[in-house]
Amino acid sequence: MNLSHPKTDTSSVTQLPAYKLLAKISQRELTSSQVVESLFEQIEKNDKKINAYLLLLKSEALEKARQVDEKIAKGEKVGKLAGIPVTVKDNICTKGIRTTCGSKILENFVPPYDATVVKRLKAADAVLVGKTNMDEFAMGSSTETSHFGVTKNPYGPDRVPGGSSGGSAAALAAGEAIVALGSDTGGSIRQPASFCGVVGLKPTYGRVSRFGLVAYASSLDQIGPLARNVRDCALLLGVIAGQDPCDSTSADVPVPDYLSSLDKEIKGLKIGLPQEYFAEGLEEEVKSALLSTVKQLQGQGAEVEEITLPHTEYAIATYYLLATAEASANLARYDGVRYSFREEDPANLDQMYRRSRSRGFGAEVKRRIMLGTYALSAGYYDAYYLKAQKVRTLIMQDFQQAFQKVDVLVTPTSPTVAFKIGEKIDDPLQMYLSDIYTISANLAGIPGISVPCGLSSVGLPIGIQILGRHFEEETVLQAAYAVERNR
Ligand code: GLN
Repeated sequence: MNLSHPKTDTSSVTQLPAYKLLAKISQRELTSSQVVESLFEQIEKNDKKINAYLLLLKSEALEKARQVDEKIAKGEKVGKLAGIPVTVKDNICTKGIRTTCGSKILENFVPPYDATVVKRLKAADAVLVGKTNMDEFAMGSSTETSHFGVTKNPYGPDRVPGGSSGGSAAALAAGEAIVALGSDTGGSIRQPASFCGVVGLKPTYGRVSRFGLVAYASSLDQIGPLARNVRDCALLLGVIAGQDPCDSTSADVPVPDYLSSLDKEIKGLKIGLPQEYFAEGLEEEVKSALLSTVKQLQGQGAEVEEITLPHTEYAIATYYLLATAEASANLARYDGVRYSFREEDPANLDQMYRRSRSRGFGAEVKRRIMLGTYALSAGYYDAYYLKAQKVRTLIMQDFQQAFQKVDVLVTPTSPTVAFKIGEKIDDPLQMYLSDIYTISANLAGIPGISVPCGLSSVGLPIGIQILGRHFEEETVLQAAYAVERNR
C-alpha cells in the first residue's frame, strides 16, 4: 500500500492556499462561489471515507459566497477573509447551528449565539463550511471517543488523525477544507496537525477569546488556527486574535500584523532544545527528522543550544489532575434540564439527572469526571489539586528561565507518528502519554505551533513543535515559516 500521499484527488482550486485564493477572489480571477462549489465536490467525494465533518452547511455557504461575490463585483469594501471557506470544530458555538462537542449529551444542542471567533470570521466575510468531528468534549488524542464515530487519517485509513481536533486536521489533509479552527487544552491542535501533515497553532492563553468555546478545562483551553501552510495559519490568527469584553481572560495586548513579518530572516534566532524531550518513547524516525530540521535552521543562521526544563517529568500528572478537576466542574451543567439529551420517563428528579448523565456521556468523559471529582473532594484537595497548582508554577518557571537564554524551543510535537485506530483506546495511560510534548505549553500558557518536517518510512507525517514566549506568536510563526520554506 502506498501511504505517501493522502488518497484524494483534490481539484486544483481547492489545493490553492487561502492567501492565494483571497487575492484571486478580490481581483475577480475566481469567485468565492466557485471555490465553495469545488470544495463541496471534494467533501462529497471524500468524506464518506474520512468522516471529518459532523455537519455541512452547503446551502448557507453558497449563499454567503454569492453575497461576497456580489459585494466584490460592486466594488464594496470586504473583510480580511472575503470569500474564504472556513471549517470549525464542533465545540465552538455557532448561532442556530447544531454544536455537539462530539457527545450524545449535546446531540441536539443549538446555541443561541455565536462564539466570538465565529463572529469575527463572519465580520471578515469568511464562509462557514461545516462543523468537524472531535473527541467527546475534546477529551482524547485520537478522535476515537467521538459519539459519532472515528475520523480516519487521510494518510492511511487504518490510522487515527490525532485528537481532539482530528476532524479539522483530517479535513485539511483530505482537501476538504481550506483553513480550520480547532481548540487545544493539552495538544489538541498541534498533535492532530502533526499526524495529518498540516500546520496547527495554539496561541498564548488569552490571545484568542474563549467566549462560546464549550469549556473543558478553562485555565488551559485555547482556540487556534489549523491550515495547510504557515502563512494561512498567520492569516487566520490575525482575524480571530484580540481582546474580547465577553471573555475576561482574553488579554489586552495589541495584535501585530502576523503576515508582514513572516518571512523575516531567522539569522541570530536562538533556539533551545530541551534535553528532557529527547527521552525514552521518542520514535527514532521522529527524532532524526527533527534533528535534520534543526540543522537546516542552523544553516539559515539560527543558533542552537541544549537547555533543560527540569520539571517536565511531572507535566502529565499535573495536567491530568488539573484538567480533570476543571472538567468535573465544567461538565456539571449537563444535567438533562438545560441542555439536550434527557432520559425519558424517569421515576423522579434524581433518576432523571443520573440516567441523563450516565447515558449521555461516553466512557472517557465519565472517567475524567470521576477522576476530577475525586481530586477535588474534601480531604484530598490539598494533596492533589493544590499540589498540582504548585507544580504548574514550577513548570512555568522552567519556561521563564529557558526563555531568558533562548527565543524559541524546538521539540517533537508527538513522540510517534499517527498510531493505528484501536491501538490505544483501551489503555488510557498510553493515550495520555501521547501528549507528553504538548501539554506543558498549556500549563505555562505559552504559544506553540506544529509544522510538518518530514515523512516516516511508511509515509506518515512527522511534525516539529516550536514554542515561544507569551504573546510572541510572531516569532513562533517566523520560525515555522523558516522550516516550511526549506522543505
Ligand atoms: N489529549 C489531551 C486530553 O485528552 C488534550 C486534549 C485537548 O487538548 N483538548 O485531555
